[in-house]
Amino acid sequence: LDSTIVNPLRYLPFSTAAFSTSQTNTIRATLFPGDGIGPEIAESVKQVFNAAEVPIEWEEHYVSNSVDPRTNSFLTWESLESVRRNGVGLKGPMATPIGKGHRSLNLTLRKELGLYANVRPCFSLPGYKTRYDDVDLVTIRENTEGEYSGLEHQVVRGVVESLKIITRQASLRVAEYAFHYARTNGRKRVSAIHKANIMRKTDGLFLTCCREVAEKYPDITYEEVIIDNCCMMLVKNPALFDVLVMPNLYGDIISDLCAGLIGGLGLTPSCNIGEAGIALAEAVHGSAPDIAGKNLANPTALLLSSVAMLRHLKLDDKADRIHGAILKTIAEGKHRTVDLGGKSSTTDFTNEVCDNL
Ligand code: NAD
Repeated sequence: LDSTIVNPLRYLPFSTAAFSTSQTNTIRATLFPGDGIGPEIAESVKQVFNAAEVPIEWEEHYVSNSVDPRTNSFLTWESLESVRRNGVGLKGPMATPIGKGHRSLNLTLRKELGLYANVRPCFSLPGYKTRYDDVDLVTIRENTEGEYSGLEHQVVRGVVESLKIITRQASLRVAEYAFHYARTNGRKRVSAIHKANIMRKTDGLFLTCCREVAEKYPDITYEEVIIDNCCMMLVKNPALFDVLVMPNLYGDIISDLCAGLIGGLGLTPSCNIGEAGIALAEAVHGSAPDIAGKNLANPTALLLSSVAMLRHLKLDDKADRIHGAILKTIAEGKHRTVDLGGKSSTTDFTNEVCDNL
């Protein structure tokens, strides 16, 4: 396999946590199978890990069907404690529960675990044809503030206000992570994505922080790209980009655009980096209720996320093996799931990955 293709998931820096091990010397990790297709694709990961003899012991936690007053969310306190204790976890998609009086699940995870950076490597999969065959970039999204601060209200009837919060502390932290990631992964350039020509104060502060951090990394080229121009450049020629760092909402949108460049959400892994070295890897797609329970889901995104988790744990030999098997299965094309134009079930695809290990 081409090392430039394998590389994007190679390192996840800041893995300073002391990971819990069980009596049998396996590493404990938290697993949130999640909702909808979540349990089906989590089953794929467990099957592949068993076949590859990965020394992981899962602590499984499901989304509760009632609000835990300690978290004010459908996520239980015990499940958050499990991630804090283990320092590492894998998360399937979670459906957003309808109703008021509780916090969103993803917001709870981000706030409670201090998940400040969302990292999404996005690279062309060999043998799976899209309009582009040279995508190899990483989006790094600030994960805690911006328009996601949840500060919205009605000023008077017919007028609402939403506050975009940008702080120096969060901007420096994510910029530092982006440059450190670039250096550790042999990447050459960091592009800060912004709209500071209009959002002068907020995006202006974000850029000031990126510039400050860039000075500490003379080996990495730094550039600033306005978000609308960035979208145009990404669609025309994604090879122009390497590492992109941006405020929360822009990251939400740009990272899905990037997923579209390589074939869709079913293929894109991610990892959330948190305080105290926590890493929570997750597939970027949702619970896909339209295909849930039908054995049709593509488990690739969660499998690649699990590879990112193994990198974080420095289990590189296992990660290489599983990553290679996934790429081989997709490249050979004998078993592709419906979202990739194939006819295979989740189970067939997973069995083929195991055979290719
Ligand atoms: P979605 O990602 O679940 O589905 C969008 C489309 O992509 C659907 O047609 C679905 O079938 C397809 N798809 C998604 N993942 C796939 C996979 N692995 N294999 C094959 N096809 C796949 O988005 P949605 O329908 O907007 O959201 C459904 C639920 O998921 C909502 O409750 C939403 O809040 C939640 N959601 C959760 C997360 C998360 O937990 N990180 C992310 C996005 C959406």
